[in-house]
Amino acid sequence: MADTTLMSIPGQVDPVPVARDITPRADGRIDLIGLPKDRIRELFAEAGLDPKQAKLRAKQVFHWLYHRGVTEFEAMTDIAKTMRPWLAERFVIGRPEVVEAQHSTDGTRKWLLKTADGHEFEMVFIPDADRGTLCVSSQVGCTLNCRFCHTGTMKLVRNLTPGEIVGQVMLARDALGEWPKGSMAGLDEAEDEGHYTSDGRLLTNIVMMGMGEPLYNFDNVKGALKLVMDGDGLALSKRRITLSTSGVVPMMDRCGEEIGVNLAVSLHAVTKEIRDEIVPLNKKYGIEELLQACADYPGASNARRITFEYVMLKDKNDTDEHARELVRLLKQYKLPAKVNLIPFNPWPGAAYDTSTPERVKRFSDIVFEGGISAPVRTPRGRDIDAACGQLKTAAEKKSRAQRDREAAEAIEA
Ligand code: SAH
Ligand code: SF4
Repeated sequence: MADTTLMSIPGQVDPVPVARDITPRADGRIDLIGLPKDRIRELFAEAGLDPKQAKLRAKQVFHWLYHRGVTEFEAMTDIAKTMRPWLAERFVIGRPEVVEAQHSTDGTRKWLLKTADGHEFEMVFIPDADRGTLCVSSQVGCTLNCRFCHTGTMKLVRNLTPGEIVGQVMLARDALGEWPKGSMAGLDEAEDEGHYTSDGRLLTNIVMMGMGEPLYNFDNVKGALKLVMDGDGLALSKRRITLSTSGVVPMMDRCGEEIGVNLAVSLHAVTKEIRDEIVPLNKKYGIEELLQACADYPGASNARRITFEYVMLKDKNDTDEHARELVRLLKQYKLPAKVNLIPFNPWPGAAYDTSTPERVKRFSDIVFEGGISAPVRTPRGRDIDAACGQLKTAAEKKSRAQRDREAAEAIEA
């Protein structure tokens, strides 16, 4: 049972006010993953190293953690042998615990992960011909209740810390065997060793599209992505990172200024009535306000377009008129835009159906004819519930098992 007390969430859709950068551990040691170099230096100084030592050791340790992916202090060969146990007594090199790893028939992989205090969350890896995308979670659950989203039916449990966010990327590198050779990376090593190539990595892109609303956990997402982008850290270009928001308008400017990654916006509807229903945050930040914030997004240009996600819900938001209105709006705000059409991924109990393929095609054609690219996203990993918006953990899985049991009992009866 998780031992974190639930945080209070003011109002319906407001952010979680509690700022935490480290999850306390039962053994009192501090997990270094997720901390910037300066913070590691401070902690080393607080533990008794003199300032010069603290700085040097922080630099070395940082390199081992993020560049080499080691998970034991013992492997840090340029650190004095006597120093390594000293570090291990006080600090740990954490990874989210893997509860379950699943492989889809289409190559998609999903991991059910657990924080040190017992909360479960998920990450998904989607390999394509020319890239490999890791879909990273920012929260356990979500405070927003988009009607078509399975995660949205969970209560928010808590924000993930920077360590738990960057830890997902590190775990994926472990699993794919993508640390420079000589690392301690262990997960699935035998299975994946063969894929490792020194020139082309499998994990090339990151999307903040897992569980949660990243802009309601801004500081921690920023801290984690800084480590991902740091040249001494995981060294992934900001051009290969996309943050998806359901439209937290007041944080969008800071996202562009302070993080600088690509933006995706979950638009999903073009009228107030429909967007209010399917993305309730729209009642707070309406379509016009949202599109204006997109037009003002720092760094957006024709070379770096904003992605507008549009989930295709049968007889809800998928008519020809909706498609034409979408084009009109994107043009009105002069947005450097591309549209991503996502066929709705159904889940048990969902109130919507998936638009027919013909409808999706027609919608896509209209947007294309309007001069805006509108590819249809192929659902991936459906067989393991890894597709967009299907992420939802433990509680739901248990109740599904429960439902199966009940169904079996009903048949017997
Ligand atoms: N909270 C953020 C990011 C996570 S969701 C956001 O809402 O943008 C990633 C994308 O999947 C969003 O565009 C979301 O609207 C979409 N999505 C959610 N549930 C879905 C479902 N059942 N089928 C298809 N797309 C879904
Ligand atoms: Fe939260 Fe995004 Fe799902 Fe909406 S679509 S409930 S914001 S995770």
